[in-house]
Amino acid sequence: MEVNTNSGASDHPCPRPDPAGTEPCTIVIFGASGDLTARKLIPALCSLYASGRLPQPITVVGCGRTVMSHEQFRARLKNGWSGDDPAWTRFAGQLFYHPVAYDSADSFQGLAEFLRDLDQSRNTAGNRIFYLATPPFLYPVVAGMLGDLGLAAEGTSGNGWARIVVEKPFGRDLTTAMELDRKLHTGFQEQQVFRIDHYLAKETVQNILMLRFANAIFEPIWNRSFIDYVGIIAGEQLGVEHRAGYYDRAGVLRDMFQNHMMQLLALTAMEPPSLFEADRAQDEKAKVYRSLKPFAAASIQDNLILGQYGAGSIAGKPVAAYRQEPGVDPDSLTPTFALMRLHIDNWRWQGVPFYLASGKRLRNKVTRIVVQFKEVPHSMFRQVLGEHISANRLILGIYPREEISLTFQAKRPGSKFCLQPVTMDFNYDTSFSSPRPDAYQNVLLDCIQGDQMLFWRQDGVELCWSFLSPILEACEACPDPDMLLKSYPAGSWGPAPAEKWMRLIVNPFPGGYESTPRPGSPA
Ligand code: NDP
Repeated sequence: MEVNTNSGASDHPCPRPDPAGTEPCTIVIFGASGDLTARKLIPALCSLYASGRLPQPITVVGCGRTVMSHEQFRARLKNGWSGDDPAWTRFAGQLFYHPVAYDSADSFQGLAEFLRDLDQSRNTAGNRIFYLATPPFLYPVVAGMLGDLGLAAEGTSGNGWARIVVEKPFGRDLTTAMELDRKLHTGFQEQQVFRIDHYLAKETVQNILMLRFANAIFEPIWNRSFIDYVGIIAGEQLGVEHRAGYYDRAGVLRDMFQNHMMQLLALTAMEPPSLFEADRAQDEKAKVYRSLKPFAAASIQDNLILGQYGAGSIAGKPVAAYRQEPGVDPDSLTPTFALMRLHIDNWRWQGVPFYLASGKRLRNKVTRIVVQFKEVPHSMFRQVLGEHISANRLILGIYPREEISLTFQAKRPGSKFCLQPVTMDFNYDTSFSSPRPDAYQNVLLDCIQGDQMLFWRQDGVELCWSFLSPILEACEACPDPDMLLKSYPAGSWGPAPAEKWMRLIVNPFPGGYESTPRPGSPA
């Protein structure tokens, strides 16, 4: 007789990328005088450098129209570090600056020479990452220049490997996304292009695949037989801040749905890849996007609620309406909130609605995926508790609570027949003591290592645009936009028709002792 000794409690090794095994390189940031560089990229690189996780040697070159010296560039970025922090001082020694004029081939030629000189003096072997942190209209311009000047070529005339990193937005519709891609490919091959979605690099988001595919108990019930609906919410308290110029042309569907929301959807709905490998995972995500059921133009309002925030208050402080924000058109019809119901037309998900919601100036900042299971098929407690017992709910919390929480019914002590929903929680903070790297640290490291797992592949981008572009076009062509766009007070949970649904998703216990109120059509 064999005795099963599997206690189920063993740890698994966490192979960490070996910084010594990664190759030296130069990271060239275009738009380096901007917000993203100061707030995200440089702090992430400095932390990685301080913890010895970057390859040696490493060089970071900032580029932009602003003319400044290396010292001025370093001083400008130092803000976040106190006094003479040795971590910053050591990292600052790897920082350089080179001004460029985006419309001048000569200027890019000068940059190429500057990079070659640095390569030689610092032994970075000609390996380069070009990071596009400029306004999006410059992405094709810079990519085209790099391609034309041979900086995208690998292994020739002093070059090692070359990669290009593109920040969202990847176009503003299918046509512009395809145009951008054509420009990127004038010099770069697809495997050299890294389209960032920093949501994918959050530990809790990466954990969705671990939860689903490293445990045997979830997959058998992860389908239409057991799941009633899925809710995915990414709500912010912030307004447009300093990004009004971009946001007013984009709106919530382009800013959030085309990228982050679609990634969360794919991770929740995809089939297991045969191996945890970038291309295989991208293939499975693409199948989800390909299966999205298009909306008929006539049914858009049955499946979509759009809103724009009015004046209100956030955490007790009055805040202005969207149309009063600096840089926003006072007659703007740009949506800052959307709740969308969509269906995935395949065997696993037939008939299961997926609700995606995102908005600015909402009551709280919250990002989570809610998997709402079906009620028990038959209530043996019906004489006392009625036919309905509120159903199980699995919450994958991404922000602010990084947790996984399963709600189920338990008998309340004392009374014979009293049920109460309770939760079983896994919390990142209490379960793991090791610090969690910032999302930008993860994506930068993966890019240095050439791992595409946390990045978008172009077919996914195009499939998502194919789904969203007709919706955007129908909304933008709507003869009565006021009917489509509902106002909501800042600090609420969105426009009135969506509020009930939003509360259902942000509350931990749907329905209490009552049946789970199934959200009907959002319209
Ligand atoms: P900024 O608006 O801060 O611009 C970055 C730099 O681009 C500026 O410092 C400026 O540098 C240059 N620039 C600005 N306007 C122009 C122009 N009209 N023509 C030429 N150059 C210009 O952008 P961010 O740093 O906020 O963002 C960079 C990219 O990353 C954007 O595409 C954005 O959509 C994306 N992104 C940003 C996020 C963020 O948190 N900030 C989050 C996700 C994506 P100079 O004048 O020196 O050339």
